[in-house]
Amino acid sequence: MDLYEHQARQLFEEHGILVPRAEVTDSPREAREIARRLGGRVVVKAQVKTGGRGKAGGVKLAADPAAAELTARQILGMDIKGHTVGRVLLAQPVDIESEFYVSYVLDRAAGRFLAIASAEGGTEIEEVAASRPEAVARIHIDPAEGVTSAKAAEIAEAAGLPPRTVDVLVRLWEVLVREDAVLVEVNPLVLTGQGQILALDGKVTLDDNARFRQERWGAEGVAHEDPLEAAAAAKGLNYVKLDGEVGIIGNGAGLVMSTLDVVAGCGARPANFLDIGGGASAQIMADGLSVILSDPAVKSVFVNVFGGITACDAVADGIVQALETVRLTKPLVVRLDGNNAARGRAILDEHAHPLVQQATTMDGAARRAAQLATTA
Ligand code: GDP
Ligand code: MN
Repeated sequence: MDLYEHQARQLFEEHGILVPRAEVTDSPREAREIARRLGGRVVVKAQVKTGGRGKAGGVKLAADPAAAELTARQILGMDIKGHTVGRVLLAQPVDIESEFYVSYVLDRAAGRFLAIASAEGGTEIEEVAASRPEAVARIHIDPAEGVTSAKAAEIAEAAGLPPRTVDVLVRLWEVLVREDAVLVEVNPLVLTGQGQILALDGKVTLDDNARFRQERWGAEGVAHEDPLEAAAAAKGLNYVKLDGEVGIIGNGAGLVMSTLDVVAGCGARPANFLDIGGGASAQIMADGLSVILSDPAVKSVFVNVFGGITACDAVADGIVQALETVRLTKPLVVRLDGNNAARGRAILDEHAHPLVQQATTMDGAARRAAQLATTA
């Protein structure tokens, strides 16, 4: 889960990293009051979970409280790369001497964290990295050792950052570890005309596996997700919304992933990922079906089950019971294989629902579901 800039700033502050004074609001009127409190001149910044706000017109300097209200009115409601601006941060402007880039990110392939740092921070960092990679230092961090002062000094030196950034680099690592983040990024980290090091912008991505111990962000994160994902999460389903038209239900994450591939290989696009796990009770099947059927993009549904400890006849019973509570509005293609497949297929045949059809192979079922979705 990504945090907003104002939340990232809060974490930085809690760990002793300096940030400009600032306040958040969703009201232009209040923006004027905040600007007054902050001394008149302010930077007005869109709070959206995407980068490149500056270039998109989402970061603007306002000369006085009246201008702050006007600018807030402009930015609130603005669309930045598909994100609607619901709140703005008003920050005291900073006299920037230099802009740096620093981040720690989980490098899964290396089994390490990676520090990325550059003395050429600011909005063009992606271009710097592409055109002059030597200007960007990349140093791996052993997760067990972390970023000590010595490691931080090594990072600062490699990137050409001033020595006084060392303390910030150590604290930023503390943010990553203590807050269960997989990414912390500060761009720009600035050296001010007064010689202070300040974090002017922040991006933090929390590890969703640690959500249970970072509850203070929980409600907010869920509230801003896709509504179908929120509904699925409320039912405890392992569901991810995708852009296609074939709804997918399967048991086991690996099987579901390959189901997505096979459906894509048949020329259709999967509408979601949904792993109902080993149990596959009638309740879970009903919950999964109701979430998928409420997605207007879905034209057909593919239930792909490989019976293991949970046998196919139990899954078929689950489907039949689910169809008693959920009104099926779109064709359902079911492929049952593995433990007790024949009994499972017989149960569905006996039930003979007009919108349910069976296929004996995964490829055959995917082709059928894709066909139904593209001709619907
Ligand atoms: P982003 O475009 O989403 O990364 O938004 P940032 O918060 O990083 O702002 C973009 C750019 O605006 C920064 O790189 C700075 O150059 C500039 N900026 C942001 N805040 C201030 C400020 O307080 N003073 C000055 N002079 N420039 C600022
Ligand atoms: Mn930035």
